[in-house]
Amino acid sequence: MNNRQSELETLRADLKARLSRYEAHQHREDGALEKDFEEQAVQTQNDEVVDSLETETRAELIQIEHALERIRHGVGEECEGCGEEIDPRRLQVLPYTTVCVACAED
Ligand SMILES: [Zn+2]
Repeated sequence: MNNRQSELETLRADLKARLSRYEAHQHREDGALEKDFEEQAVQTQNDEVVDSLETETRAELIQIEHALERIRHGVGEECEGCGEEIDPRRLQVLPYTTVCVACAED
């Protein structure tokens, strides 16, 4: 297993753990009706923040799964856009990327 793959797998585990915390937050049932209005407003705000974090985390996870998939198929270092090799330095900084600099800028 190469470094990038294990890095991505660690990242994936982290994101999954984060997601389940967000889900636990969103699905809690703690008698919201008993709270006063101000508390409920704060709660709603928190829910919205967690909601967007959850969406963001899901998107990151999909990207990581996608990169891992390409590594498994032996094309992890190939750009998805143009088929050229992705600069290893770029992969070091962005292990989840699947396109080269030129294609990312398009
Ligand atoms: Zn490219």
